[in-house]
Amino acid sequence: MSQVLVFAEFANGQLKKGTLELLSAARKSGLKIQALALGSGAKGLADQLGKEGVDQVFAADDAKLDQYNPELFAEVVSGVLTAQKPAVVLASSTMLARDLFPRVAAHMNVGVTSDCTELEISGSGDVKARRPMYSGKCTAEVAFENSPTKIVLMRPNQLSITPATAAKTPSVEAVSMPAKDLKTLVKEIVKGTSGKLDLTEANIIVSGGRGLKDAAGFKIVEDLANVLGATAGASRAIVDAGWVPHTMQVGQTGKTVAPTLYIAIGISGAIQHLAGMSGSKVIVAINKDANAPIFQKATYGIVGDAFEIVPALTEEFKKLLAH
Ligand SMILES: Cc1cc2nc3c(=O)[nH]c(=O)nc-3n(C[C@H](O)[C@H](O)[C@H](O)COP(=O)(O)OP(=O)(O)OC[C@H]3O[C@@H](n4cnc5c(N)ncnc54)[C@H](O)[C@@H]3O)c2cc1C
Repeated sequence: MSQVLVFAEFANGQLKKGTLELLSAARKSGLKIQALALGSGAKGLADQLGKEGVDQVFAADDAKLDQYNPELFAEVVSGVLTAQKPAVVLASSTMLARDLFPRVAAHMNVGVTSDCTELEISGSGDVKARRPMYSGKCTAEVAFENSPTKIVLMRPNQLSITPATAAKTPSVEAVSMPAKDLKTLVKEIVKGTSGKLDLTEANIIVSGGRGLKDAAGFKIVEDLANVLGATAGASRAIVDAGWVPHTMQVGQTGKTVAPTLYIAIGISGAIQHLAGMSGSKVIVAINKDANAPIFQKATYGIVGDAFEIVPALTEEFKKLLAH
């Protein structure tokens, strides 16, 4: 029987939302579901994965996998996939997965597609996916030819989460670490200190642009983001100006995001910015220029001065969310 294998990502012992989305899509296919989890605590996910309808868990429960090492991860993942030969592999299109899975695909000589926004898996394990191209000006339908395993990386927040109808008790297979010597050693990964979800995984994003006048003006974006439990993002103009770090940039040369709610404040809506956020479900634009291109993409538009509107919105949300 064909199977679909989900690359299960987790934090603090809980499966990430993107993984729950992939598991919902996997269940729809009616295929046997496998999950692969890497790092300390991987074994402990079996119960959660069982509740999500997973039949078999591969757990590489080793602290060496707690931080990303491209060579080691590619060895471990390729080892499992080569042995299991799943028809489909699903992973969230995160920075890590976009680095890892092309390596795995090359190891296995199979196809990979990233940054997908739509997915269909047939009962026989065939895949049709769609992905935006040319800064979102068109979308491509992707099919695989002569690829016994098809690797699909889905943008988070694109697939809906449906509850599993029946829980399973999955078998848990321990994945051993490769014996071969590695050529690369990752000494340290320095993480951002915001404590907020990464932009690519965030459900709500509040972004600011040059309309905020200067670095101090960005505070109104952060205040609103804090009240909403959102992640703050930025246009390239203010990254280039040094107001905020590049990790916060949304767009063609920044991050591609697809939150449920994207609030763009003082951002004109240049094509390169839209390329990174037009997959958002609801877009709210706040701009004092009624002709700003962002309004053509916005679900809701507020024409006016951000310095009047945003603090007022923040206060209203504070009151609303206090109840
Ligand atoms: C190869 C290439 C790649 C690029 N990649 C990216 C990318 O990844 N991401 C990205 O964002 N850009 C990218 N850009 C840059 C892009 O073309 C734009 O220059 C940039 O997005 C503009 O940023 P902005 O909207 O903040 O600034 P502006 O275009 O200057 O817009 C500022 C907006 O703020 C409004 N405003 C002013 N004052 C107020 C106020 N008080 N209240 C409300 N609104 C106000 C103005 O009406 C205006 O619409 C790229 C460009 C190139 C050439």
